[in-house]
Amino acid sequence: MELKTIENIDIVKSSTTKINEVDFDNISFGNTFTDHMLICDYANGEWQKPIIQPYAPFTIDPSAKVFHYGQAIFEGMKAYKDEQDDVWLFRPEENFMRFNKSAVRMAMPEVPEEVFLGGLKKLLELEKDWVKKGNGSSLYIRPFMIATGPGVVAAPAMFYRFMIILSPAKSYYSGAVKVVVAEHFSRAANGGIGAAKAAGNYSGQFYPTKLANEKGYQQIIWTDDATHTKLEEAGTMNVFFRINDTLYTAPTSERILDGITRKSLIDLAKRENIKVEVRSVLVDELVNAAKDGSLKEIFGAGTAAVISPISGFAYKEEYFELPNVEDSIAMDLKDKLTKIQTKLADDTFGWTVKI
Ligand SMILES: *Cc1c(COP(=O)(O)O)cnc(C)c1O
Repeated sequence: MELKTIENIDIVKSSTTKINEVDFDNISFGNTFTDHMLICDYANGEWQKPIIQPYAPFTIDPSAKVFHYGQAIFEGMKAYKDEQDDVWLFRPEENFMRFNKSAVRMAMPEVPEEVFLGGLKKLLELEKDWVKKGNGSSLYIRPFMIATGPGVVAAPAMFYRFMIILSPAKSYYSGAVKVVVAEHFSRAANGGIGAAKAAGNYSGQFYPTKLANEKGYQQIIWTDDATHTKLEEAGTMNVFFRINDTLYTAPTSERILDGITRKSLIDLAKRENIKVEVRSVLVDELVNAAKDGSLKEIFGAGTAAVISPISGFAYKEEYFELPNVEDSIAMDLKDKLTKIQTKLADDTFGWTVKI
């Protein structure tokens, strides 16, 4: 796959760079940004000429709908650098298509491919020194769109702003986390917006997650909102369970985000002859598997951490600790996927795209 290019774009270069102030080996995720950002405004029913300009705050009308009605969506992707200093993206067309699905669900205008992918290519060409190679280093890419149109009237805006900002990242291994299985709160509901990367889905998680943190758990495993019996996602990640030597993950639905890491792991596991079953896992099944020792691993899957291992879960006041496994499928798949992304292993799937 070749990335679309864009010719109709303005580029205003920053006269300074912050790159020398950044300690790339000790970087906390999502707090440092590169020198430039991309902006493309939507007005009068069409997308305007995009501009890449120095990273800086900007002003919006206080009545902008993003502030009042949360009309906002985002994506999360990464760029990697190989040994030859070439910059690569991982399945970027998937992020582009998902972004526009989110846009449709939130009654926002779809962003043209040349703005999203072509603009990203231009931005990355300008910021390629910020993509470090080796050791799981990457440049986290955050495309997003907000409703800038004014008016405290609960109806879709007439004006929008699409932006891309970039944040250097290390592969982070925060250790395995303890989770609690949701019995009351829900992340998403049938007919709702859970399948979109809509901003409000995440702020809605903050309070239940805070309550879980106070009890000593780092994350929540979300269950279906109607019955709280099916395991659906882990925090802001898709979730996998290993029972004996089979991996299980729920099918995507209106309540489950269609993660690119999730579907890549499914394909990768199949190639490695690891059994994968895409079906709902019941909370009862998980508890029974934990009790009889067949539950070997639980892990979250998403772009930011790739794979995030879970060491145990709480359900109805009982805590189930997972055994220490010698040959972790999670860690093996993480290693294999990261190697494909960073061009250290053959990309037999054709997932990587050169900038
Ligand atoms: C973004 C996201 C994921 C993971 O998607 P990836 O494409 O793998 O990064 C999973 N669940 C939720 C709720 C998400 O927002």
